[in-house]
Amino acid sequence: MAHIIEAAKSGRAACRTCKQPIAKGELRLGEEVANQFAGGETTHVWHHLACAAKKRPAELLAALGATTVEVPTRAELEASAKASASTEKPHSFPYAERASTGRASCLACHQPIAKGELRVAVEREVDTGSFMTRGAGYLHPACACAHTGDDAPALLAKVQAHSPALSAAELDALRAALTT
Ligand SMILES: [Zn+2]
Ligand SMILES: [Zn+2]
Repeated sequence: MAHIIEAAKSGRAACRTCKQPIAKGELRLGEEVANQFAGGETTHVWHHLACAAKKRPAELLAALGATTVEVPTRAELEASAKASASTEKPHSFPYAERASTGRASCLACHQPIAKGELRVAVEREVDTGSFMTRGAGYLHPACACAHTGDDAPALLAKVQAHSPALSAAELDALRAALTT
């Protein structure tokens, strides 16, 4: 399974983004998430395509790229999703993201954080040489609780609130990593 686009088989599912029902026959995005009731299995949560373009742009773009379903509004959805993805950069600390480069090292253990790995960003003072400013410092999820002094549920709650771009699967991975 992966993220999918399909016509809703019934009118019973509600959109995970806006909580409104998705009409039978309407195209919807199925975001693949871990099934919390069955270890190792996955299930789908559903979004209106227009809602997904705003809140799940990466998942929607992946599904649009893979689907064989004809999506009449594909061009506008892609444009909307790309716009959301680019403005989605979180700015409240702490937040989590996938490392865009492999250059940052962890504030706690001083080991590099690999490109593409999930990292937790916290605010720190940065000495530019001429003045002090505030910027992002990065932590391995496994190093984050010890560094911030939060316990894992508290830190996860803050990170989740500040990281709307994270998928449910990424949040699950983060939750697991924070407690290791
Ligand atoms: Zn919706
Ligand atoms: Zn570390």
